[in-house]
Amino acid sequence: MGFEILVPENEDELISLMEEGDYQFLAGGTDLFVKIKKDLINPERIIDLTKAIDGPKFQVEQNEVKIKATTTHAELAESSLINKEFPVLASSAGAVGATQLRNMGTIGGNICNASPSADTLIALYLLNADVDLVSSDGRRSLSIKDFITGPGETELASGEYVESITVPKLSGKFRHFFKKVGRRNALDISVCSMGFILKATKEAIEEIRLAYGAVAPTVIRPGAVEDFLQGKTIDKETISRAQRLLKEEISPINDIRGSAEYRETVALRTLEQIRQN
Ligand SMILES: Cc1cc2nc3c(=O)[nH]c(=O)nc-3n(C[C@H](O)[C@H](O)[C@H](O)COP(=O)(O)OP(=O)(O)OC[C@H]3O[C@@H](n4cnc5c(N)ncnc54)[C@H](O)[C@@H]3O)c2cc1C
Repeated sequence: MGFEILVPENEDELISLMEEGDYQFLAGGTDLFVKIKKDLINPERIIDLTKAIDGPKFQVEQNEVKIKATTTHAELAESSLINKEFPVLASSAGAVGATQLRNMGTIGGNICNASPSADTLIALYLLNADVDLVSSDGRRSLSIKDFITGPGETELASGEYVESITVPKLSGKFRHFFKKVGRRNALDISVCSMGFILKATKEAIEEIRLAYGAVAPTVIRPGAVEDFLQGKTIDKETISRAQRLLKEEISPINDIRGSAEYRETVALRTLEQIRQN
């Protein structure tokens, strides 16, 4: 069956089109058109968000940066602002697919697709980002952790869209790290991904946040590992105790990209990066 693509020019037009009935949103189309081609969905109306979500892609406030949902991965990876404030977000966006995909795919689409292996989610979980939602009832924000409820599942209500993502600025100097392990490295969806931001002196860890992708139904922050690492000296013994705790917090599965055992091995090994950074 065919479909029509509607391109509202502003928020009011977008909301009235949503109220007219069934639709699918289109941002970059890199997930949407794959689903249509595979016959997983069969929409009659597609609403293109790229004009209605207008204004500058990045808005800097005193304590936070707002990123428009239609910002592409290439724009994130190349932004001097994002590279300065949130290097982990720039590197995770730079790791998405190939050049064409980064030029088309958006951060809003990556969030709403809610894949446990979505690259930018690692950074957004680490940075405690909020998802800003708009509907005819008004605006609301949810933390990324509360917005994503399962593989491909979110709290996005009917008649609602993601307008922006709000990322709180970090206070102090953090080291940022993102690593993705895929079958063909850069071009592929990850078999396991990991990121951390770390503030430490020579003596001890002051603050650490960790996030893992593709080892649980959603991206996770392994809280017991983070709690254990606070205040610890970064040595071999600390890392191996953290690895034992991490094993309890992940639940990798077998799929066509990799076995559960391989995913677990990769996840535990990536923790060693804390020592090497
Ligand atoms: C070959 C290939 C390789 C890929 N490699 C990677 C990879 O390495 N890493 C990775 O993370 N992803 C990868 N992806 C997945 C995809 O490219 C990303 O998830 C991308 O960010 C999706 O963004 P989009 O703008 O194209 O979304 P779209 O396809 O336009 O939309 C995806 C979904 O989100 C909804 N949506 C989009 N924007 C909004 C919004 N603002 N509000 C509400 N709903 C919205 C749409 O309705 C749709 O259901 C790959 C995909 C392909 C086809």
